[in-house]
Amino acid sequence: MTTQPPSSAPYISACPVGCGTSLASTEIHLPEGPLRRCTSCGQLISAASESRYWETMASFNAPGFNQPAPRELERRRRVAGRRLKTISRLLGKDPADIRLVDIGCSRGQFVDFAAQAGFAAEGVEPAPDIAAAARAAGLNVHTGLLEEQRYPDAAFDAASLFEVVEHLREPLPLLQECRRILKPGGVLIISTGNAASWTVGAMGARWDYFHIEKDGGHISFFNPQSITTLATVCGFNVERIETSRVKFHEKGDVSAALYTAGKIAAELLNLPAQIAGRGHDLLAYLRRR
Ligand SMILES: [Zn+2]
Repeated sequence: MTTQPPSSAPYISACPVGCGTSLASTEIHLPEGPLRRCTSCGQLISAASESRYWETMASFNAPGFNQPAPRELERRRRVAGRRLKTISRLLGKDPADIRLVDIGCSRGQFVDFAAQAGFAAEGVEPAPDIAAAARAAGLNVHTGLLEEQRYPDAAFDAASLFEVVEHLREPLPLLQECRRILKPGGVLIISTGNAASWTVGAMGARWDYFHIEKDGGHISFFNPQSITTLATVCGFNVERIETSRVKFHEKGDVSAALYTAGKIAAELLNLPAQIAGRGHDLLAYLRRR
C-alpha cells in the first residue's frame, strides 16, 4: 500500500449550482490558480485544493473571531433590522409569530438582534468554540451543521444563510435541508458576494473577497443568475434580489489619496449599482414553494 500525497486538484470540479456545463478559465488569477467560470450561469469557482480549503476554514473557530468594534456592531444592527422587517413583511406575520433559524450564525449577533425584535430566534454554528461563546452570552445557539440538528419538517417560518454559500463545495444539500425545515411559503434569506459586480469588473483578482486566505474558505462566487438557478433547483421562488456597494481599491493597496478618490467615486456609484444589480453585496429573499 502506498500513501497518497495530498491532492493539489481543485476541491470544486463542476458548477456547484448543478448546471452540468463546462467551466472556462478566466483572467482573474489568484495564488491557487485562475478562477473558472460556469459557461451556463456565470458562477466563479476557486482552483484551491481541498487541503488548502480546510486550512483556511480553521480561522472561523479562532478565539477573537468576529468580534466587531462598536461602530461596526451598530452598522450590523441597522442592516439586521432592515432584513428582519422585510422577512416580517414577506411572511405577513408579526415577529412574535415568526420562528427563525440563522444557519452559520457565528457568535449569534443576528440571533440576538432578531430576539430583541421579538422573533423566536435560534442559531446553528459548526465552529464549536464560537457556538459555545454564543450560548455563554445567553443565546439559543446549537453546535453543528444544520443537517445534524434533525429539526422536524416545516418547523420554521424563516431561515437565514449570511455569508455561508460561498464556502460550500456543494450548496444543494444545504438548500434542500432549508426547504425541508421551512413551512410552505416560508422565507430563506441569503447574503453573499456578487461576482457579476462592478467591483469585480474594476478590481478582478485585487478584490479581497476572492482570496481564500484573507476571507477564509471562500471558494464559490455567486451572481444574481446563479442564485436564481440554485433557488429554482432547490424548490424556491425568488421574491427579490438586491445588490449594494461598489469599491475600486482595498485599503492599504494604494496610496491614501488614491484610496480616498476611489472611495468617493464608489459612493457616487452606489445608487446606480443598486439599480443595475451590480453592487458587490448580494442579498436574495427566496420563498419555499
Ligand atoms: Zn452554473
